[in-house]
Amino acid sequence: MEEDEQGKESSRYSLVETHCLLELIERCKGCGERLDSSLIRVSSLGSAKIVTYDCLPCNKTVRWESQSRVGKGKGQVYKGNHDIPLASFITGTPLPRLCDFAKLIDLSLPSDRAMRRVIREVGAESINRVYANSEARVRKIAVDAAGGKGLEVSIDGQYDTPGYNAANCKVTAIDCNTKLALGAATLHKKEHGIGENWAPRFQ
Ligand SMILES: [Zn+2]
Repeated sequence: MEEDEQGKESSRYSLVETHCLLELIERCKGCGERLDSSLIRVSSLGSAKIVTYDCLPCNKTVRWESQSRVGKGKGQVYKGNHDIPLASFITGTPLPRLCDFAKLIDLSLPSDRAMRRVIREVGAESINRVYANSEARVRKIAVDAAGGKGLEVSIDGQYDTPGYNAANCKVTAIDCNTKLALGAATLHKKEHGIGENWAPRFQ
């Protein structure tokens, strides 16, 4: 198999085999002293590699991390552990398939639970924000189109889903005069907040 030599030298991440990484850590990065390999510990935190060793001349434990961190306080995670679930979310790659893929080549990934948390807290939040901004724009267009006449709002909802058991409720609000949409929302009937003040969201 011929290797593709055209890879970007400046790409953010690369696959590094653990034994190749250890070749780089023969000496202490503080004092340059040759390290006793039995004092070197390698561990994984999701996709990040952590190397620690005790250096006798430096009289301290030195820690090296393969990735920088993002976020604040307790929510801080290694960048790869943040980027991988979001890339899976954006590209529609199911997490179980991603985990199968990683397992096959013995690649360390964050746990399924940790990845779902990032998707929930970061990915879903971003979609809600983008959707809320779009809704605000749509409402402004409708209000501007109505001029000074005000809006005559009509709200219509229906349960509609393939199959016999309708589970999703769609609600649309329009201005009767201009027929412009003011907002739309979809909720599953079991979702918390249906019938209360709920936020519109993507289905
Ligand atoms: Zn040292």
